[in-house]
Amino acid sequence: MIHGQTIEEPLFACFPEMCPHCHQTTEFWLVRVTGTAFAGIIPVFLGGTEHLLRCPLCRFARYLQKGEEKSYQRVAELFGQVQKGQLQIADFFKQMESLHVPTLRQIHREAAFWVCESCKEDNPKNFSECWKCGTRPVAAA
Ligand SMILES: [Zn+2]
Ligand SMILES: [Zn+2]
Repeated sequence: MIHGQTIEEPLFACFPEMCPHCHQTTEFWLVRVTGTAFAGIIPVFLGGTEHLLRCPLCRFARYLQKGEEKSYQRVAELFGQVQKGQLQIADFFKQMESLHVPTLRQIHREAAFWVCESCKEDNPKNFSECWKCGTRPVAAA
């Protein structure tokens, strides 16, 4: 009898982002998902490997596009430099703009609540000023 199984393997924390589901700001984890089919206990088919970004608090997740996972090692590296004070946050975002991270951007947009008047950046609703340029929202409730 053949049965299937998927194995999830958390790789590393990438970058703090507001979760569109639980609305907490937390570090999203890159998770590798591997599909395997077994005949008894013998793996007969190793399915494709996919990656997703997951909120560790509520387990909300989004699958990445093919090849996108390669960019997240760099994201985690850059953010590590910010935490150690080796990289300015503005330079961090500048570098992020050149990375291929559409799923991270999508999560970012989904969680967004207000748009900065000055730089047009999306901001989470619990931020009282733009995280990118520091401008306060004009029409904040
Ligand atoms: Zn969440
Ligand atoms: Zn701004």
